[in-house]
Amino acid sequence: MNQKTQGSTPKIRHALTIKREEDFAQWYQQVISEGEMAEESGVRGCMVIKPWGYGIWERIQKIMDARIKDAGVDNCYFPLFIPLSYFSKEADHVDGFAKEMAVVTHHRLIADGKGGLIPDPEAKLEEPLIVRPTSETVIGAAMARWVQSWRDLPLMVNQWANVVRWEMRTRMFLRTSEFLWQEGHTAHADRDDAMTETLRALEMYRDFAENVLAMPVIAGEKPENERFPGAVATYSIEAMMQDGKALQAGTSHYLGTGFAEAAGIRYQDKEGQQALAHTTSWGVSTRMIGGVIMTHGDDDGLRVPPAIAPHQIIILPMLREDEGDEALLAYCEEIRRALIGQQALGEPVRVLLDKRPGKATQKRWAWVKKGAPIILEIGGRDAAGGMVSVLRRDQIWREDAKTNFVAQSREDFIAAAAATLEDIQRSLHAQATERRDANITRGLTTLAQVAEFFDDKNRYPGWVELNWARPTGAALEKVVEQLKALKLTIRNTAMDAAPAEGTCPFTGEPAVERIYVARSY
Ligand code: AMP
Repeated sequence: MNQKTQGSTPKIRHALTIKREEDFAQWYQQVISEGEMAEESGVRGCMVIKPWGYGIWERIQKIMDARIKDAGVDNCYFPLFIPLSYFSKEADHVDGFAKEMAVVTHHRLIADGKGGLIPDPEAKLEEPLIVRPTSETVIGAAMARWVQSWRDLPLMVNQWANVVRWEMRTRMFLRTSEFLWQEGHTAHADRDDAMTETLRALEMYRDFAENVLAMPVIAGEKPENERFPGAVATYSIEAMMQDGKALQAGTSHYLGTGFAEAAGIRYQDKEGQQALAHTTSWGVSTRMIGGVIMTHGDDDGLRVPPAIAPHQIIILPMLREDEGDEALLAYCEEIRRALIGQQALGEPVRVLLDKRPGKATQKRWAWVKKGAPIILEIGGRDAAGGMVSVLRRDQIWREDAKTNFVAQSREDFIAAAAATLEDIQRSLHAQATERRDANITRGLTTLAQVAEFFDDKNRYPGWVELNWARPTGAALEKVVEQLKALKLTIRNTAMDAAPAEGTCPFTGEPAVERIYVARSY
């Protein structure tokens, strides 16, 4: 309004120095460091997850864990070290992971005579131990002991653990050498039951991404070349990041009977015959946090969806280190108490009264960068007048480029707080969904069109949906190579996409399904 009359557009002074548009990769790093999420540890690819980042992970764990248990899957724990021979039993599996396994070969060090230490040749392990990259083999061995008859099936376990994959190109949260995850492992009497479980886990992840992370995803089957090593079918959820790239945010695998055969998971069926179990595995990791950052972050830092925010409302008293502070703190404490009695998104509201010393504005910007959904600033005059000053992280700027603090009576704020948190959750999801949907392009029918589409540097890349003939083997390899030359990958074949039409841009054969093709993380 008055922008126009004054003739110049007021400029917003963002909290970060790097804008998403300028350098998305650097922006991502800055959100993580300024939001105090994580930092480098000195070991390549291994990160220190700081309290705010870990708090988000704990929220993810808590909500996901309840859903896993609801599905009848029990938690347990298996060792970090897996004998090498366990891997050798499943040829595809060991082939797939060999390139990135960390191996323990000794159990003692001795002095090297130069002031250092070296592994003691006398203390060489008889069999090398692998630091688990995933636990199908060791859990399979236990399942072989636990399953005897059809009555023992289905057997469904999950573990929350860290795993190590020696990744060559690492990026915090998205791809680290050590990461935290949950891995579900189940054994079933037949294919149908195992496939039902594979798709149940996929749907659990889809719903979690959409409704907890507020991150829209497409659930579907991965092409053959992207299958988990040893799997018969791999399904994923794929999310579009703000730079248009795809992120695989979770996977669910139907493993057939291959792992059961390798580990000896056999049972006596109802007719008294010996049969192999059909197994599944499914996992999500700390990568999800990277997805949340790249879905919801803005030029002021992270915006954490209220469902996973460790603190949803921050109360910031404007302390002055004088005799007025006591009454101000008492007022803030009353508000805190009233808020923690409320329920939002099905749980008690999580509130932090930030009494730490320091300038209130500095503390405000620290919470903005961390992405706390609601920030309340309260000064002595607000306290005396029964008021609060409210900042919604998802509506942080006014048109005149000032921070969008809204003055409200304390009663009004408290009465609306839960609904506001739910509205922020909804609105983050709506924004991300709108962006995603606007950036899926349909209707390209030739590889040349695809190349041209992604070649246009001025265009936001997004994803393209193609009809294809689902080539396999060498024909698929050729497609993968062609796409690789364009820096593209096949993400998945969406399960709820429209029926295929036309011919395959790669093979010219009649199309049988639709796939998503994108640049990816
Ligand atoms: P996978 O066992 O390979 O199916 O992996 C399960 C899930 O873990 C994947 O869907 C990814 O989201 C995640 N993941 C795989 N590798 C990494 C990594 N290096 N860092 C973080 N997350 C990972």
